[in-house]
Amino acid sequence: MKNLQIYKNLEFSSVKKIKAVQNILLGKHLLHCQKYSPYYRRVFKKTGLDARRLNLDNLSTLEFTDKTEIAQYNDDFLAVDPAKVADIVLSSGTCGRPTKIAYSEWDLKRLAYNEERSFGSCSFTNQDTVLLTCTLDRCFIAGLAYYSGLRVLGAAAIRNGLNSLESHLELIKRLRPSAIVGVPSFLRKLGLYLNQKGYSAQKSGVKKIVCIGEPLRDKNLKFLKVGQDLEIIWRAKAYSTYSTTEIVSTFCECAAQAGGHLHPDLAVVEIINEQGRNLPNGQIGEVVVTPLRIQAMPLVRFRTGDISFLIDAPCSCGRKSLRLGPILGRQKQMMKVRGTTFYPQAIYSCLEEIKEISEYYISVTSEGQLCDSIEIYAAVTDPACTQTQIQEKLQARLRVTPKVFICDEELVKEQVYTSGSRKPVRFIDRR
Ligand SMILES: [Zn+2]
Repeated sequence: MKNLQIYKNLEFSSVKKIKAVQNILLGKHLLHCQKYSPYYRRVFKKTGLDARRLNLDNLSTLEFTDKTEIAQYNDDFLAVDPAKVADIVLSSGTCGRPTKIAYSEWDLKRLAYNEERSFGSCSFTNQDTVLLTCTLDRCFIAGLAYYSGLRVLGAAAIRNGLNSLESHLELIKRLRPSAIVGVPSFLRKLGLYLNQKGYSAQKSGVKKIVCIGEPLRDKNLKFLKVGQDLEIIWRAKAYSTYSTTEIVSTFCECAAQAGGHLHPDLAVVEIINEQGRNLPNGQIGEVVVTPLRIQAMPLVRFRTGDISFLIDAPCSCGRKSLRLGPILGRQKQMMKVRGTTFYPQAIYSCLEEIKEISEYYISVTSEGQLCDSIEIYAAVTDPACTQTQIQEKLQARLRVTPKVFICDEELVKEQVYTSGSRKPVRFIDRR
């Protein structure tokens, strides 16, 4: 752990110092890939590139890695003796079966260090008691990562996982956690459930909420409705955190709640356009991550498929590291209507501002290579809220006019909540 901690304060250093250290760590990482990962050994050989000559400025000469390659050449990504593998995680694959992601003992420590830093940045201390509402088993990594991070931080964890609302209520009453980690839409539901049962969420003692799996903000960093609701229902601060199984790195908001800080000793982040070219900070594109200091399954330029942007403006917390904006959608969810491109999140934030809409989902079909047809199915609490009003709002905001259908709330809910997913499903892609 001591070795891991040597760059702990790097994010408070100057941009120049951050870049210098990242260059050293990136060099070591690429050399590790070239020497020990059969997959990357082939890549380096094929492209004629040498890890010793690569740095932050010419990293883009190396090809990307995506989920398809990890699934197809899964075992070739292992860069350690199989005896060194300490944990095997399964990630949703692209060819029907889950993909293996292996972690060594060092990688698990690195994971814990990463989460300790993330929790620390949003004011968690060893005084906190934290209710974890995410699973620690079923070969998922997120729950284990949060748990390990809390252990290093010295906070107390309550591992109630994906349990019922009732069981969370019982534990909140009995153990009075000061913080909760979970999916925002679920935590909103939990807060409302507490209130309904006569145990005020506002008085529950929960002061911090760390949100995973769904964005809390729009592209202007303004709270989406779910973020606003969470802070009001719980009278707590809501922080967003982002990660994926493959990148073993987290971007968690600090107390300033203005984008997730990158821990620069743990990852290099790029944003690319549809053609795979690097975009300047601030521009929206796909998030590409090269996690640093990974032993078992190191990756280079991993395409997450998630859409966001980087913020390089100074943060009031004093960290100089880049911040990642909210996830605005998935690359493959990009919709095109008469030359305008946008992601589902833009429609969600617009619909969530219409307080009469209680539930909704979007269905997209293709009308040709460059044009999609978007249909919105919404349930409203007040019949005065019409199809035309919703269309006008969308037109004003997005400059497109999707078809809008006002439907029965139960029918909309059936689509959104009963598809077997842990998260609400609001985007149906029929293209
Ligand atoms: Zn900050």
